[in-house]
Amino acid sequence: MITFYPGPSKVYPQVADYAVDAVREGIVSLNHRSAGFMDIVKETVRLLHDKLDIPADYHIALVSSATECWEIVAQSLTAASSLHPYNGAFGKKWAEYAYKIKPPVSLSEADVLCIIQNETSNGTQVTMETLAQFRRDFSALIAVDAVSSMAGIAFDWSLGDVWFASVQKCFGLPAGLAVLIYSPAALKRAEEIGENAHYNSLLFIHENFSKFQTPYTPNGLGIYMLMRVLQQLPPIAVVDIITKKRAADWYTFFEQFGPGSSQAHGSLTKPALSPDFRLLINDKPDRSDTVIAVEGSESAIKAIKVAAQQAGIMLGNGYGDWKNTTFRIANFPAISDDEIGTLMQFLRSY
Ligand SMILES: *Cc1c(COP(=O)(O)O)cnc(C)c1O
Repeated sequence: MITFYPGPSKVYPQVADYAVDAVREGIVSLNHRSAGFMDIVKETVRLLHDKLDIPADYHIALVSSATECWEIVAQSLTAASSLHPYNGAFGKKWAEYAYKIKPPVSLSEADVLCIIQNETSNGTQVTMETLAQFRRDFSALIAVDAVSSMAGIAFDWSLGDVWFASVQKCFGLPAGLAVLIYSPAALKRAEEIGENAHYNSLLFIHENFSKFQTPYTPNGLGIYMLMRVLQQLPPIAVVDIITKKRAADWYTFFEQFGPGSSQAHGSLTKPALSPDFRLLINDKPDRSDTVIAVEGSESAIKAIKVAAQQAGIMLGNGYGDWKNTTFRIANFPAISDDEIGTLMQFLRSY
């Protein structure tokens, strides 16, 4: 079975060996305050800076999930309340979680702007140009959920103060670990707020990570596997080019032969895609590079998912409002060209 599920998603095949190494070499049994374990944390943080081109003065911590990061932003970095412009299910969830901790107040008092860079539920993205506009218009902190795009495309990190992603999407790893990146301005804000009431208060996390330690016994296996995957990865500038080329190919694939195109009518060419399906997002700049959402009737979506399954291909289900009327295709780096070819061939002959 090959999978295009956008999280949990395909893991890099090498991860199987990394997991074996972690057990065989006793890494999973290391005390997390031992020198050997701290070296792994230190090297992982160094590799994140290096491979993802994260500014040297931005701090990095490892936590358990993106959901935890939503709460950390609310409890440790939000003085009054946060603002949540969103268009999909993950943006809505973040707002709901944040407002349980810091209930909404008037817009003018909000001191953190919370942006989902890549809305996994509907395949939209916020471009760096839009983020730059937010930076110009908004003087307070900007927190960016980049769960389904970090390690898949390049960012201008300076446009956000907090960036985070769990590793089961573009990092091609099993779930249970998240990367939390925060700027000097974010740390300064945390110090001004002075919140230190939780095991995962940012100040406490920061204090621990400055010694390459963690507040609690961490997911050592996950951290080790992240380190090994980062070692094998090319720089993000290279990954970015590949991801965007593959995304452009997918969008062309769905556009070229969709309903209304010249190939779909009259000519002898068989349409590559059944006219039952169309791209969910019409505005090109809004289209995600890492998650492609395809829309159809409930019955058509159900049928194609079953047929794909029978052909050994797992399509991503729809999510939230689009649960039954879309399928999603992950365009994550761990997916191979051969697998993409197999799915395109399936769709062409469907
Ligand atoms: C998957 C996802 C999350 C949730 O990640 P968890 O690791 O389950 O907390 C949050 N935001 C976006 C955009 C996602 O795609």
